[in-house]
Amino acid sequence: MQTQPTVAIAGLGRMGYPIAANILQAGFPTVVWNRSRDKATVLLERGAVWAEKPGALTQTADIVLTSLADPTAVESVYFGPEGLLDRARSGTILVDLSTGSPDLARRIAAAARERGAAFLDAPVAGSIKAATDGQLGIMVGGDRAAFARCEAVFAAIGKAAFYLGESGNGATMKLVSNAILATMVQALAEGVALGEKAGLDPADIFTVLATSSAAAPVVAAKAAAMTERVYLPAAFTLALMQKDLWLVLGLANELQVPMPATAIAYDMVLAANATGKSGMDFSAVALLMEELAGARES
Ligand code: NAP
Repeated sequence: MQTQPTVAIAGLGRMGYPIAANILQAGFPTVVWNRSRDKATVLLERGAVWAEKPGALTQTADIVLTSLADPTAVESVYFGPEGLLDRARSGTILVDLSTGSPDLARRIAAAARERGAAFLDAPVAGSIKAATDGQLGIMVGGDRAAFARCEAVFAAIGKAAFYLGESGNGATMKLVSNAILATMVQALAEGVALGEKAGLDPADIFTVLATSSAAAPVVAAKAAAMTERVYLPAAFTLALMQKDLWLVLGLANELQVPMPATAIAYDMVLAANATGKSGMDFSAVALLMEELAGARES
């Protein structure tokens, strides 16, 4: 009988926690680490094993998943003292599920290769609900053989894993996806502010949009938040969206690709954060647009 690989997860935030819970639920021996240990309590009660440092994960696990806030966190967990790459064993597969930069993915992949390990950049589509339901979409760049070896792990956390080619391609695909998402939500926020100020009922706006060519899963998903103006608790924060759009614009700058709509969406996310909304869901750009329009003052 083939034994299950041991799977480790570093980063038990909004996304990492439900991902770890699904890995555990699928029966993989599971090891966890998080900067703040308290978030691991329930997983440890259910049978996960705690690691004191990221470096300890690569000592015990065959496949190590990371789900971390931003490139600074990824850099420190991989390259820092007692980090994942410090003592990575030959044959270990490291998989970063965070949304990050393609350049950093290529740097980690090269460092992993030097140690005989493999690295996959594998950011995810879908928010907390998809992570909880094991229904994420996973966009993967890196070694194809390593991708194949992660099949069962990806099946435990997602509904589809896409192999996109060389290192950095998974990260690039996620940036493309979030650039489109952010500009869609910016357009939605503007339209809603205009409709409201002109006297339409926000609930009516969303009812009609649902039947129109402008209907999209994100429009339906954000209808309740925007109608009721409730943006907490956040699924995906404005702080993280600012990070993602900054990465998009960095890549666009490097490749000389004009992205005017994304640049405006970035500025509006930045303005929302500058006015105290960074912990809210990213759809709270609608709140900012209402404020700027003087719509729905209450
Ligand atoms: P989150 O709830 O803010 O969790 C962030 C995680 O990163 C926590 O485990 C946090 O540790 C850790 N962290 C932050 N800074 C660190 C540092 N300097 N060193 C070590 N660990 C650090 O974020 P999330 O929503 O789960 O997002 C995680 C990743 O998934 C991000 O890259 C995000 O862009 C991406 N993503 C999110 C969503 C979503 O809907 N939320 C959807 C798709 C992709 P502590 O617990 O100690 O703070």
